[in-house]
Amino acid sequence: MPVEEDLVTGCLFCRIAGGELGAEKVGESEHVLAFRDIRPVAPTHVLLIPKRHAAESAAELGAAHVELLGELFALAAKVAKREGLDSGWRLVTNVGPDAGQSVHHLHIHLLGGRKLGWPPG
Ligand code: AMP
Repeated sequence: MPVEEDLVTGCLFCRIAGGELGAEKVGESEHVLAFRDIRPVAPTHVLLIPKRHAAESAAELGAAHVELLGELFALAAKVAKREGLDSGWRLVTNVGPDAGQSVHHLHIHLLGGRKLGWPPG
């Protein structure tokens, strides 16, 4: 099914995936897109999204998403390498208001390029 047939009207990341809204793309695989966060909180701050609106957040993930998750992580590792994050990087996915989720289209933040504190805020 072409990506355009599975986009949710009004969803910001569907609009980026569909090419309606611009973004600084840094990587792509068959089902996953990587682009720079518009408000970076680290020298490297990339978002990885499924091109299709597969889930609103990690809360909806299950066995049906195993391949997609593998693809998301694989592209994250590829981008981290390309960005030169040899001393470490972090993947974060926010779920719900307490975590500050603001876009309801599954996405993973790839952060790196500085020392990342633990525990996170
Ligand atoms: P979250 O708050 O975890 O849902 O993450 C959503 C992220 O999307 C935030 O870090 C925003 O800065 C980022 N964001 C919002 N609009 C855009 C956009 N047009 N292009 C790139 N990143 C965006």
